Amino acid sequence: MPFLLPPPLQGRIYRTRAAAENATRVTKTINRPHRLARRIPPHAGGTMRSRLPSGAHCYLFCLWALLVPPVCLQHASHHRRKDHGGGGGGGGGDDDGGVGGGEERPKLLLVSFDGFRWDYVDRVPTPNFHALKREGVTVEVVENAYITKTFPDHYSLVTGLYAETHGIVANEMFDPALNRSFSMETDSVYDPRWWEAAVPLWVTLQRAGGRSGAAMWPGSDVRIHGTYPTRYLAYNASVTFAARVERIVRWLAAPDDGEGEAAAVDFGLLYWEEPDESGHRLGPESTLMDDVIKDIDEKLGYLRNELKKAGLYERLNLVVTSDHGMTQLSKDKIIELDQYVSRDLYTWVDKSPVVGLLPKEGKLEEVYSSLVTANPYLFVYKKEDIPEHLHYSHNSRIMPILLEAQEGWTIVQNRNGTFMLGNHGYSNTLPSMHPVFLARGPAFRQDYVKPAMRSVDLYPLMCHILALRPLPNNGSLAAVQDLLSVAPSPSPATASSTPTAAAPTGSSEGGGGGGDPAPGYSYATAVGSLLGVVMVLGFLVVFVRQVTLKQLPALPMRSREMSQPLLQEDLRL
Ligand SMILES: [Zn+2]
Repeated sequence: MPFLLPPPLQGRIYRTRAAAENATRVTKTINRPHRLARRIPPHAGGTMRSRLPSGAHCYLFCLWALLVPPVCLQHASHHRRKDHGGGGGGGGGDDDGGVGGGEERPKLLLVSFDGFRWDYVDRVPTPNFHALKREGVTVEVVENAYITKTFPDHYSLVTGLYAETHGIVANEMFDPALNRSFSMETDSVYDPRWWEAAVPLWVTLQRAGGRSGAAMWPGSDVRIHGTYPTRYLAYNASVTFAARVERIVRWLAAPDDGEGEAAAVDFGLLYWEEPDESGHRLGPESTLMDDVIKDIDEKLGYLRNELKKAGLYERLNLVVTSDHGMTQLSKDKIIELDQYVSRDLYTWVDKSPVVGLLPKEGKLEEVYSSLVTANPYLFVYKKEDIPEHLHYSHNSRIMPILLEAQEGWTIVQNRNGTFMLGNHGYSNTLPSMHPVFLARGPAFRQDYVKPAMRSVDLYPLMCHILALRPLPNNGSLAAVQDLLSVAPSPSPATASSTPTAAAPTGSSEGGGGGGDPAPGYSYATAVGSLLGVVMVLGFLVVFVRQVTLKQLPALPMRSREMSQPLLQEDLRL
């Protein structure tokens, strides 16, 4: 059976999904999950009381002892939330660290300007980026996830996972198990099976009773694990930046206590295609890029003003970042595979500068040996030999042979086709591939510069701000907690966790391994557990004393053999 693979796509400009071009500006509203009911029905105490004999106060003490620790846990782990009188004991659910009814969740807006390299902010006057620097935090070096392309890195930002674990390993992919191809330029993007090795943050938030709104963020218009963002815009590249901002600000500024479409979202995601498109077309070193960068700064200024007009700017946490940087290409730096190996021996997957090759059956060694020493600017890896630090081998969607060009070089089969002057996708250790990162708001320090972080660390940081328990991830809250205005509660589990990479079609949600727990959770667990043990022990002492003395007066104090079984039977009630 022939593989369903796309034709070679090198040379095209990104961001032209055919289906999306035809899509209308549609806002779809999904009913948000109901706030979870309180765990303890109000009549429970009365029911218990009516069944108890004269030692009832012991049972009530027991009930209190068992209930107090969970309530303490809820309050401790949600210490950052503002309580509007709904009381504790809310939240709960399958996997959440959710906010209970009546509590307001801190707001967060994540903005990505595609392809905004970290050093663009100092290349031309960018007053709005610099205002953010003064008002909040800046990270100078952000090591993003390999490969440094749009879809993999945007999914890493909202999952905290490297591509080998979240399964979006490239912009163009082939899945041998599904026998299907993925391309950001086709409707394959909307097949949830490509995305469901991980759970994006908006899904986790909504499972915890929160609401999210997404304006064109890659993957946010896909029904992942049965869920869309509470509100979202179906992808359409022709929708202006102002229109996207208008929508996301309206969603964030709605009343917090509204229902359905009237309710505010807690978490917003905003995506803009520039300066990536211009970077590809002009090359980042072109002086024409200066105006493109100035335009992005003006767009950031527009967003800031709209947030101020809506009364959101001072109470919202705003993160401005990107998926990757951009580097200059040259027509003198072309690697033509046809010079070294017959294209009949392999199928080409994804685009330069990192290309997967799927050799025809029995041809792996021939293809590999033909290429491995063919060109000094071409790095050739068998899948199992891909360097571990790239976190890019443990997934069936990563092809048996991986080609990576040296920075500035382009891999093609031959010179037919359009040539770009800028590109990304190269190693995430290269400064040119690194994105910008700034953040401001109540959760963040002011005028603080941090030397370095990994982009996967943003996920546990966002979970902390949103008071959510993160799913297993490759990031570390401890690594970025110095960005916060208030340090998280002490936690023994502050080291970075490394989920086990898994084939996406068979993996469970979020991969394996452990992640950073919710802020303060482990500390609260220890305190709550200690309280619970003390209280239950206290109850047992009082209970034994009460029952043996009052309920069983006929039994002599020394008849332990007789009284013990009766006590245990009674305890099971
Ligand atoms: Zn791009």
